[in-house]
Amino acid sequence: MMQNLPFEPEFEQAYKELASTLENSTLFQKKPEYRKALQVVSVPERVIQFRVVWEDDKGQVQINRGYRVQFNSALGPYKGGLRFHPTVNLSILKFLGFEQIFKNALTGLNMGGGKGGSDFDPKGKTDNEIRRFCVSFMTELCKHIGADTDVPAGDIGVTGREVGFMFGQYKKIRNQWEGVLTGKGGSWGGSLIRPEATGYGVVYYVEHMIKHASGGKESFAGKRVAISGSGNVAQYAALKVIELGGSVVSLSDSQGALVLNGEEGSFTVEEINTIAEIKVQRKQISELATEAAFSSKFKYIPGARPWTNIAGRIDVALPSATQNEVSGDEAKALIAAGCKFLAEGSNMGSTQEAIDVFEAHRDANPGAAAIWYAPGKAANAGGVAVSGLEMAQNSARVNWSREEVDSRLKKIMEDCFNNGLATAKEYVTPAEGVLPSLVAGSNIAGFTKVAEAMKEHGDWW
Ligand code: GLU
Repeated sequence: MMQNLPFEPEFEQAYKELASTLENSTLFQKKPEYRKALQVVSVPERVIQFRVVWEDDKGQVQINRGYRVQFNSALGPYKGGLRFHPTVNLSILKFLGFEQIFKNALTGLNMGGGKGGSDFDPKGKTDNEIRRFCVSFMTELCKHIGADTDVPAGDIGVTGREVGFMFGQYKKIRNQWEGVLTGKGGSWGGSLIRPEATGYGVVYYVEHMIKHASGGKESFAGKRVAISGSGNVAQYAALKVIELGGSVVSLSDSQGALVLNGEEGSFTVEEINTIAEIKVQRKQISELATEAAFSSKFKYIPGARPWTNIAGRIDVALPSATQNEVSGDEAKALIAAGCKFLAEGSNMGSTQEAIDVFEAHRDANPGAAAIWYAPGKAANAGGVAVSGLEMAQNSARVNWSREEVDSRLKKIMEDCFNNGLATAKEYVTPAEGVLPSLVAGSNIAGFTKVAEAMKEHGDWW
């Protein structure tokens, strides 16, 4: 068990979520020595904290905190995004880094787990301020990363623009062009499909859930899909749902939710593109919601999340904004609205209470008030998977086509789903008429892969 911990609520939540699924399976009965591996894997190999001083447009000195948690390098260089958001602290980054270890293991690619970022808030900042911040942040971070050491990417608040500024600074200081960051621009080393990968990947994953649960009879066609968030993950998940014949009935941001007015229809591709454009300008959905084209079709609910504000049936829910965005009560409301599948595009999108509700409702009988839950570390692994493909392309000095990357992404999501499913069947005693637990299966599959590698490295014995 974890002892003498500082107060790190988000990290404790992520740790307990993983540990409880291992405890409630037959894993520790079959391999008691894995308890030791769990103790070792839950302590980061290294945590770097640094000062970021930068100058705002008024010439004032601004100070932020910078971090990189190099959590685990058993399977490859530390790999995971950078988050720029005022809520960033060590607890948040340790939870994200911990999740990333097992997520990256589930991709089947050689990547360790890490996460970093800053409490810098990009909202309301000019492009010049963002550039100066990124340069200052990388001036310190560049001492600790490298293509074979640690390869950051984006997360909340870090897009291709920020990756570009940071890459430029790394290259200047180290005098080295190397694949040290992923999510790069397409013309200078980025992979095609990387921007789309997390959102597309979640939808590819859910396609397998639907297919499996319906015995191959159903697909996204005709499904009503509730999505939260409106950033990179939510946008591309929404576009893929529409492409596959589903309807998108909600999106949201940190200030409120935008839901369809009635029980019919869907966001269109044009509407999603309009939202994507305002997000590049770091604006809120509320600014769009009052425009005639949006106010006639949608309802904007300030300060709300979509889940309990949608008229009519919900078939699929894709939380794609941030951590803890589905509560226990919202989980119950989603089941009552008919929701059969929930997959996290965000990291730790559901509270433990919500997961407990979902896991208690894994009834496979047709017509049952049941839901099947997929945790972020499996369902949103597509983003980091294509980051892994970007690293491979950079190392080989090649660029793969859209089709090549997309088909590899599809295969990785399929393998990730099948791995979680098979592992759940192996380690969790199946009850009659109940779907296998994808959270238990994915946690056990990710954990055992990392634990085995660590054992062979002499990290525990
Ligand atoms: N931030 C993303 C995640 O949570 C992507 C990380 C990466 O591409 O390294 O998985």
